[in-house]
Amino acid sequence: MQTEDTLPKERKTLDERHRMNELERMRHSCAHVMATAILRLWPDAQFASGPAVENGYYYDVDLKHRISPEDFPKIEEEMKKEIKANHMFEKVVVTREQAIADARSGRLGGLSDRPDNPSRFKLGNLDDIPESEAISYYRNGDFVDLCAGPHVMRTGNIGAFRLTSVASAYYKGDERNPQLQRIYGTAFKNKTELEAYFKMLEEAKKRDHRKIGAEMGLYVIDTEYVGPGMPMWMPKGAAIVEALEQLAKETEFEAGYQRVRTPHLAREKMYKTSGHLPYYQDSMFPPMEMAEDGKAPAASAAQSDAAETNRYYLKAMNCPHHHRIFSAEPRSYRDLPLRMAEYGCCYRYEQSGELFGLMRVRSLNMNDAHIYCTEDQFAAEFNAVNEMYLKYFKIFGIEKYVMRFSTHDPSKLGQKFVDEPELWKKTEDMVRKVLIDSGINYIEVPNEAAFYGPKIDVQVWSVIGREFTLATNQVDFAVPKRFGLVYRDRDNTEKTPLCIHRAPLGTHERFIGFLIEHYAGNFPLWLAPEQVRVLTIGEDQALVDYANSIVRELRRNMVRTESDFSADKINGKVQRAEQEKVHTMLVVGPRDMQSGAVSVRVHGKGSLGARPRAEAIAEILTSIKERKSSAA
Ligand SMILES: [Zn+2]
Ligand SMILES: [Zn+2]
Repeated sequence: MQTEDTLPKERKTLDERHRMNELERMRHSCAHVMATAILRLWPDAQFASGPAVENGYYYDVDLKHRISPEDFPKIEEEMKKEIKANHMFEKVVVTREQAIADARSGRLGGLSDRPDNPSRFKLGNLDDIPESEAISYYRNGDFVDLCAGPHVMRTGNIGAFRLTSVASAYYKGDERNPQLQRIYGTAFKNKTELEAYFKMLEEAKKRDHRKIGAEMGLYVIDTEYVGPGMPMWMPKGAAIVEALEQLAKETEFEAGYQRVRTPHLAREKMYKTSGHLPYYQDSMFPPMEMAEDGKAPAASAAQSDAAETNRYYLKAMNCPHHHRIFSAEPRSYRDLPLRMAEYGCCYRYEQSGELFGLMRVRSLNMNDAHIYCTEDQFAAEFNAVNEMYLKYFKIFGIEKYVMRFSTHDPSKLGQKFVDEPELWKKTEDMVRKVLIDSGINYIEVPNEAAFYGPKIDVQVWSVIGREFTLATNQVDFAVPKRFGLVYRDRDNTEKTPLCIHRAPLGTHERFIGFLIEHYAGNFPLWLAPEQVRVLTIGEDQALVDYANSIVRELRRNMVRTESDFSADKINGKVQRAEQEKVHTMLVVGPRDMQSGAVSVRVHGKGSLGARPRAEAIAEILTSIKERKSSAA
């Protein structure tokens, strides 16, 4: 789980502090209580930073004793005492001089003065507080900490908590600094929620996409020959990929999209125009230099213009290519909305430490499309995208979701956000109105928009209650202008279209990673890598011929069908098919053959009894066509 977290920033901005929710305040307060408890047991402990992070909190501590999970019960015992004491979290504002003096006397992050043991990390933390910000302490009982808050009112407001793990971390994340012990814990409103969380983690471990992916032979990451973070889909994984693409193609075709195909490379000029260079450079693979004839360019040609022409990048996104297709022909208002779709393969350079199975990868296949439209068309187009999401959620049985609508901060125009105040207001108002009118579940998050427009992150919960960010939609009113995209309007003037970037199924990598957990590998028939296996009771030639004719009929109808006509006992064959998560088993014995029937078994559900062959096959075909969530 930890690898999935974005690396926590230790010092939150004031903005981020204001936005800390109830649960985060409680978890951070719990870090103070944990420090209090550790000091009662080991008074020489020195603390560094203790923020709330995703799913919990930590505190970094320097201590001769190496804390291990065996120590957790006694630390938790002390924590309970501090919570029972119900101390107030009291805020005290001090001068920088006072704070430095208290840190030198060992008082900060301590229960009392410790003149021989100054609060050296707190001294270092003081350096990070800008002159413009007030310096404050928070006190609970004897424990005084340098902290900007916020906290809950009293230690007694902390619900159910648990310590979870110990790791090591360098002070301020810098390996030149001392290595500290990082103690992780979590807290919830009450015991029921805490227990549900740990139960969910246990279930998630069983459903780990890396474990099930390997067991089922869905994908392989060949670090040595292909490279880290670049999954290859094996036949069974590729079957799922193709079923998803089929779904996307049908859905998008019906919704009036047109498909395009673009190369994986583009010249430097493309990404300078889009603005990805230099701002996004760290997330792109380094460039390739090549002359027109494919040879490396001569050293003398290293003037900047020539070098730029000869420099190619792997694409990290598909939009620039699509923009160039848009501008390849003159466009009029009659062409809009123009919806351009592609399952495009992109490459992003993720740090190797952040790669994680299918969830964090370097090569990704995206359910991408760009909708070019006028302002008048925006609401209808944006709404149609949302409808598409809801349709997909229904197909995949995703019951809980939220759309995080990220908007800009007017004080950061021209720095973090493109300096177009009216366009920001107009597009954000349009998006907000669609979200409200459609009654979709959304929350608004200020100051997190993309550089060039508001965005919507779609978060979904798997069936076991774990949260995933699936996809991002963006409204882009800046980049089409940079690419000089125009259409001729009714009044014969040239106008710049708006562009909606959308990818409801995200990337194959992330989405299939999610689906593996969501279904625990037990995919519904339409997605199952092996949809049907025909098993014979015995290996009599007439029986095998009959079984083979069933296999052929199913395969003629594009049903992914395999056979097991071996001499093994039928129970063994069934067991093997169950283990391999084959969705539907058609068992045929002499009696089935005589009556033109099959005995149907469904993975995890057992026998459904004998059916006429034609009926069983028709049911299979219907279930696949309608993408039913389960059963044959
Ligand atoms: Zn605090
Ligand atoms: Zn895009």
